[in-house]
Amino acid sequence: MRRGRRRSRGRRRSRGRRRSRGRRRSRGRRRSRGRRGSRGRRGSRGRSERPLQGVGGNRATCLTSVRSPGAGVSSPGRPGPAGSDTAALAQLPPQPPPPSRAQTSPGPASGAAPNRRLGSVRGVSVPQSPPGHRARLSAPGTSRLSSAAREELRRRLLGLIEGHRVVIFSKSYCPHSARVKELFSSLGVDCNILELDQVDDGASVQEVLSEITNQRTVPSIFVSKVHVGGCDRTFQAHQSGLLQKLLEEDPAYDYDLIVIGGGSGGLSCAQEAAVLGRRVMVLDDVVPSPQGTSWGLGGTCVNVGCIPKKLMHQAALLGQALTDSRKFGWEYNQQVKHNWETMTEAIQNHIGSLTRGYRRALREKAVALVNSCGEFVEHHKIKATNGKGQETYYTAAKFVIATGERPRYLGIQGDKEYCITSDDLFSLPYCPGATLVVGASPAALECAGFLAGLGLEVTVMVRSQLLRGFDQEMAEKVGSSMQQLGVRFLRKFVPVEVQQLEKGSPGKLKVVAQSTEGTEMIEGLYNTVSFCRVSGGRMNTTGKIPVNDVEQSSVPYVYAVGDVAEGKPELTPVAVQAGKLLARRLFGGRLEKCDYINAPTVVFTPLEYGCCGYAEEKAVEVYRKENLEVYHTLFWPLEWTVARRDSNTCYAKIICSKFDNDRVIGFHILGPKAGEITQGFAAAMKCGLTKQLLDDTIGIHPTCAEVFTTLEITKSSGLDITQKGC
Ligand code: FAD
Repeated sequence: MRRGRRRSRGRRRSRGRRRSRGRRRSRGRRRSRGRRGSRGRRGSRGRSERPLQGVGGNRATCLTSVRSPGAGVSSPGRPGPAGSDTAALAQLPPQPPPPSRAQTSPGPASGAAPNRRLGSVRGVSVPQSPPGHRARLSAPGTSRLSSAAREELRRRLLGLIEGHRVVIFSKSYCPHSARVKELFSSLGVDCNILELDQVDDGASVQEVLSEITNQRTVPSIFVSKVHVGGCDRTFQAHQSGLLQKLLEEDPAYDYDLIVIGGGSGGLSCAQEAAVLGRRVMVLDDVVPSPQGTSWGLGGTCVNVGCIPKKLMHQAALLGQALTDSRKFGWEYNQQVKHNWETMTEAIQNHIGSLTRGYRRALREKAVALVNSCGEFVEHHKIKATNGKGQETYYTAAKFVIATGERPRYLGIQGDKEYCITSDDLFSLPYCPGATLVVGASPAALECAGFLAGLGLEVTVMVRSQLLRGFDQEMAEKVGSSMQQLGVRFLRKFVPVEVQQLEKGSPGKLKVVAQSTEGTEMIEGLYNTVSFCRVSGGRMNTTGKIPVNDVEQSSVPYVYAVGDVAEGKPELTPVAVQAGKLLARRLFGGRLEKCDYINAPTVVFTPLEYGCCGYAEEKAVEVYRKENLEVYHTLFWPLEWTVARRDSNTCYAKIICSKFDNDRVIGFHILGPKAGEITQGFAAAMKCGLTKQLLDDTIGIHPTCAEVFTTLEITKSSGLDITQKGC
C-alpha cells in the first residue's frame, strides 16, 4: 500500500517533469516551425492546443474539478507569453481574399440549424456587418496594439466569453473549425461564432486570444466560460463526456429530454438517455381508429404492426405446412379449419404481456411516462393533454419527436364509416371474410398474404406499383407468388366509393373503383375493406419531419426519429437504432450515426422477400449500369420438392459494384425464411461482403441460403436460370 503510494507520487513527479520538459521542447519546436512558416506540416496533431482553462474577468482559472483524463485534459495552462503576436500569426494560414460572408462560412451540417454569428448577439457590441463591411471588436487603428487597446480588446473578449454558453473563435475557411461547428450543431447547441477572417481586427483578436488561452490557432472553443481548446480537444472532451458536463443542461427545465411518442424509436431513445443519467419523460397518446380500436404503450410495432402481423403470418404458414404435411405422409381425417377468434385472442394476450414489459422497463429506468398528447406551445415547452382534456405544461432542454405513422383513409365516400385499417385488423373480433385490401405497401401485401393463407378470399387493389421503393423485379415476383396462392390483383384502380349493402360481423360492402388510366369503372362485393399504410419499409416523404443526418430538425433542440422522420426507412429496428444512437450522441459523447442505407428488411408475404442495400434500379441510378454486375438464379427449396411446389418461384439476386472489388451493394431473396437468411447476409454486408467472399464461403447444405455461395450466372449474360428439377 505504502509502496504503491510512493510509486505513484514518484510517477506523478517525474511525469510532471517530463511534461514540462516536453512542453518546453514542443513550444520551441513550434516556434521555430512557425518561423520557418511550415504551414503544410501543421496537421491537427501539431496544432498548439492548450488545456482547459476557466475564464473570468482577467483571470484564467484552472478547471480541475471537471478534468477528465480520458478527455486529454491536462493541467491548466498559464497564459501564453505576451507579445508573441507575430510568431503566432506567422503560424496561421494566410487569409484568402476577403470573401462574402454567405459564400465562405461553412456553417453547420446540411439541414442543421444555423448557429449564431457573433455579429447578431444581443448585448455584444459587435454589429452585424453589411456585406462588404467588416465588424470590429477593437478600436480602429489598433492593429499594432497599444497596451490600452490591448487591454480594452481583452476586456471585450472576456465579456463575450462570459456572456455566452458556447463561443467559437473560428475562420470561415478552416476545416477544423467546420468540424467543431458541426459537432455543436449535431448536439443541438446554439453557438456564438466569431469568424476571425471576416472581421477587420481578426488578427488583433487572435493575438489577444492567444494571450488568454495560450493557444495560437483556430478554432478556439469556450464552453461555459471554460477554454476547451481546439478541434481535437473539443472532440476528446465530447468523447469523454466532459463537454456534456460543461454544457450541463439548464436546471430551469423540467427535463433534459422529452420524447413525444412511446413507440419503437421513442422508447429506445428515452431509455438510453435515462441509462446515461438524464431526466427523461415520454409522452404517449394513441388516437383511436375511426372504428374505435386503441392500444397501449409500445407504438405500432408491438400493437398493430410487426408483432401481430408476424404472428398472423405464422398462422398462415402453419396452414400451408398442413397442406404440405400430407405429401410427407401425415394422415388426418378431421376437417381442419381455422378459428379467427382463437388466433386474435392468443395474439392480443401476447401483446398485452409485451406492453406491460415496456411500462416496467421505463419504471426501472426512472423514465416518467405520461399518457398524453404532446404539442409544442413555445420554445422548449410543450402542452400535454390527457384523455380527459386536462392540460399540463412541461419544459425540456431537448425534444425528440417519435410520433410514427398511421394508415390513411382515402377520403372517399363511405371509407371511414364502413372500412377498417390494419390498426383494426389484428384485433378484429370476427373473421373478416372476403376482403379487399387497398394498397401495395409491405403492410398491405402482408395483410393480404396472411388472410389468403388463412383461407379467405382476398383481392388487392393497386393504384400503380407493388412495393414502391423496393426492387421492382422482386416486387413483381412477390405479386406473382401471391397470385399463385389465389390472391387476386386489381392493378391501376382506385376505390372511389364504398356502400354498405348489409350490416353484420362481417357485413357486405360494395366498392366502386375507377381506372387510373381511363374512365373505366368497376364494382366489387366484399365483406371487409381494409386500408393500410401508403409506404413502409422504404422511404416516404409525405407529412414527415425533415431532419439532417443526425436526426436534427430545423429547430436545433428538436430531433425526430422513426417513421415520422422524412426519407428514412419505416422499420422498427431502424427507429430503435436511430433513437439509441441519438441519445448516445446527445448525452453520451458518441458520434455514431444511424446507417439508413444498409438497413435490411423483409416483406412477410406468404413467400418472404428479404433485401439489404440497393434495389437494382437505385443501384443503376447511383453507380450506373456499366459499373454493376448482377448475379441471380431461381432456386427450388428442398422442402418444396416432395411437397410438389413450383420449382421456379424462389429467386436470389445480388448486385455487385465492379469498381469496388465486386462488393455486394444489393442483396435480394424471395423464398422461405427469407427474414432469417437476410439478417446474416446484412451483417456480412456491413463487413464489406464481396462476390469473392461469397464464393469462398462454404455453404450449409441443404438450405436455401447456400444458393448465395454458388451464384454463377450474371444477368448481363442472359443465360437461363430456370430450375429443371432435382
Ligand atoms: P410508432 O411505433 O408508431 O410509435 C409512435 C407512438 O407515438 C404511437 O404510440 C403514437 O400513438 C404516439 N403518438 C403520436 N402522436 C403523439 C403525440 N402528439 N403525443 C404523444 N404520443 C403520440 N417494421 C419492421 O421493421 N418489420 C415489420 O415486420 C413491420 N411490420 C409492420 C406491419 C404493419 C402492419 C405496420 C403498420 C408497420 C410495420 N412495421 C414493420 C413498421 C414499424 O411498425 C414502424 O417502423 C415502427 O413501429 C416505427 O416506430 P416509431 O417509434 O417511429 O413509431
